[in-house]
Amino acid sequence: MVSLSDMKPEASIRPSESLRNVRYEIRGRLARRAHELERQGYEIVSLNIGNPKAFGFRTPETMRLAMIENLSEAEGYCHQKGIFPAREAVVMQQQARGVTGVTAEEVFIGNGVSELIDLVLRALLNSGDEVLVPSPDYPLWTAAVTLNGGRAVHYPCRPENGFVPDPEELARLITPRTRAIVIINPNNPTGAVYPRPVLEALARLAERSGLIVFSDEIYDQMVYDDAEFVPMATLVRDTLCATLSGLSKVYRACGYRVGWAVFSGRTRAAAEYLSALELLSSLRLCSNVLSQWAVQTALGGYQSVKDLVSPGGRLYESRRTIVNAVESSRFLELSPPKGAMYAFVGVDTRELPAFDDQKFALDLLEQKHVLVAPGVSFNVSYRNHFRVTTLPDAAMLREVFARIEALLQGYAEAAAAGGAQSTKSPGAILDGAQRRARRAEAQDGPSNDGNNVVEATSRFK
Ligand code: PLP
Repeated sequence: MVSLSDMKPEASIRPSESLRNVRYEIRGRLARRAHELERQGYEIVSLNIGNPKAFGFRTPETMRLAMIENLSEAEGYCHQKGIFPAREAVVMQQQARGVTGVTAEEVFIGNGVSELIDLVLRALLNSGDEVLVPSPDYPLWTAAVTLNGGRAVHYPCRPENGFVPDPEELARLITPRTRAIVIINPNNPTGAVYPRPVLEALARLAERSGLIVFSDEIYDQMVYDDAEFVPMATLVRDTLCATLSGLSKVYRACGYRVGWAVFSGRTRAAAEYLSALELLSSLRLCSNVLSQWAVQTALGGYQSVKDLVSPGGRLYESRRTIVNAVESSRFLELSPPKGAMYAFVGVDTRELPAFDDQKFALDLLEQKHVLVAPGVSFNVSYRNHFRVTTLPDAAMLREVFARIEALLQGYAEAAAAGGAQSTKSPGAILDGAQRRARRAEAQDGPSNDGNNVVEATSRFK
């Protein structure tokens, strides 16, 4: 018997047009290819995502105990803004940092900062509204502006300025349609920590132009050496400031999905906006209740992240390993990260004029089994950067940078042999002997099979 569904013409299901310009390359094509290789049995070193658990970091055990203790309290929905002890703990943290005028009323807990980025923008934007977003950025900010009908206007944080923005340059991008400025400090992907005078200038600029400040401070306690983290909310008085942070990074609890947005500054003038945000929060009922019970325990008392970012600590030493590897490389350059857990590494285009970040990331994955995020994933116009996370231990990072150096050396040799053009596709110009040499080189890596590497390369489209 022929069923009704058999008679219907096969129509493809199209996604929403609103997604046309939305990208999140960190988990995109390259990451899918890495999964494919893993399924084939290859061991891939994935440095594309800042997920501490994947590199052996643990959430402080007191946070786990707090959740176990409150398991029975977590069975129902809670208030749309979050449970009171968690919001109050966030208030106390802000007060201890010198932020004034904040109560639990101004704190919204979400399923990670990610959810809150979407909600704070959705509550604000009308079609065509502009938001100033850093370039490079954490790409969710650009994506969420676009998804909510706005236009992300990127302000440059140039490598030659240590990835710190120039407030004067930024001021020139403000138009009558600009509603807000996004600041990511300490920064992902660059590791820049903005100096106080720069933040002060940005605060005055936002105040003068009536812009909301969205300060993404998810890496707030991850700073190295003498870098000073200055909470934006201590500087913004005469406009609305939203500080976003959470448990994912500092407390190594990405999977708990807890973040918060705290509003300070001109909150009274923002009453309607905050009501809209509460409405959106109500529509999703509440965020994960169980993990909210870990917030108070996390924020109070000893902050174990300090051990990780101090000399001798795992993140400190890993970062140092990357800085040293770049220093000893003929091809690489780096503005050493002062905070967070990433390095945004540049490739010297005087050495490799035809370098292309996406091609490099693909070659590195296929030939050396290392997954990095090409710079283009972070909304930059230049094509000679890539991001790695500093989460692996120093030994693994030394191995990774040896493989990167070998790949770049291969590019340089191919360019020398075949003219400048050849670096664009070094694989294409290798003769049989060179191919065999490269396979042997690839075999030096763990569980690497040169034949399959070449085969895999040709299958990637
Ligand atoms: N903001 C920045 C700058 C990030 O780097 C990340 C995650 O990498 C997030 C927000 C999202 O964090 P969450 O896990 O709280 O959603």
